[in-house]
Amino acid sequence: MKRALITGAAGFLGSHLVDRLLAEGYQVIGMDNLITGDLRNLDHLKSEPRFSFVEHDVTEYVSVSGPLSCILHFASPASPIDYLKIPIQTLKVGSLGTHNLLGLAKDKQARFMIASTSEVYGDPLVHPQDESYFGNVNAIGPRGVYDEAKRFQESMTMAYHRFHGLDTRIARIFNTYGPRMRLNDGRVIPAFIGQILRSEPLTVFGDGKQTRSFCYVDDLVEGLYRLLRSDYHLPVNLGNPDEISIVDFATEIKEIMGSEQPIAFKELPTDDPTQRQPDITKAKELLGWSPQFERKEGLRKTIEYFKSLAPEEWYKKEHRTFNHQNKKK
Ligand code: UDP
Repeated sequence: MKRALITGAAGFLGSHLVDRLLAEGYQVIGMDNLITGDLRNLDHLKSEPRFSFVEHDVTEYVSVSGPLSCILHFASPASPIDYLKIPIQTLKVGSLGTHNLLGLAKDKQARFMIASTSEVYGDPLVHPQDESYFGNVNAIGPRGVYDEAKRFQESMTMAYHRFHGLDTRIARIFNTYGPRMRLNDGRVIPAFIGQILRSEPLTVFGDGKQTRSFCYVDDLVEGLYRLLRSDYHLPVNLGNPDEISIVDFATEIKEIMGSEQPIAFKELPTDDPTQRQPDITKAKELLGWSPQFERKEGLRKTIEYFKSLAPEEWYKKEHRTFNHQNKKK
């Protein structure tokens, strides 16, 4: 039987990938240190015999008994406020964690996939961004911890491919949203939906003219799965090219949710990219993939999910201390 290790399995993308690989007939081992992940994302798999969970920090030596056909490394803080709060852990999971897992993949002769990011393009001077663009990253800025961890991760993965002949995949993931995001993770979609649910003003950072292109999670997971099954080793952008400014996006969410909440303009975070749109020509040609969900449709599903949470969840500010030492209560 095909057997996969997925790191970050209790997170947003990781948990959806677990579901997808189980649906494809895999046996899946999920690994997470639960710093930003949440076991509730895996609750529905409690009686699934093909799934097991291991609580482990992949920056420490990783050991898995038995064969593995693939390793998908999706463990990392992924929201700007998370990696500002845990910068060193963010750097370590992309660097040391990747190195440990590459070693494991080599040992098991497993296919290895990494969750890279549009952040490797930094504040891009090329628009839209295709895979040949080297990016415009501020290594020493507050976001640099994430960007450089992911750039190192790509570099290390390519080195294992070239030097050891490891079978590798690099997905450059653009902004993705959907059920199982944390309502308080600070990213723009949960932030706006949470604010409307709590009848608060929508916080738009800067003048809101910066753009993003949002991909619904089911589309992204389809792209990831096709990439995993392909034989392509160089980076592939995965995202939805439908670009919108943040201030227009605030208006769109208000319309969908029938909200009259005002917009409150706040300070723009350091190095917040001014524009972002994936060029997905490569994914289209290589994988026959393109996103199917219109933003409004994906948003409706996401709003339904957040509404289905207990209202206490809407008001929880941040239940995580991010104190690694105290994580086991
Ligand atoms: N943003 C915003 N209000 C918020 C949260 C985010 O205006 O409450 C903006 C943020 O400045 C950025 C965009 O929305 O320009 C997307 O932010 P997010 O944190 O979702 O992800 P990023 O693409 O910056 O990694």
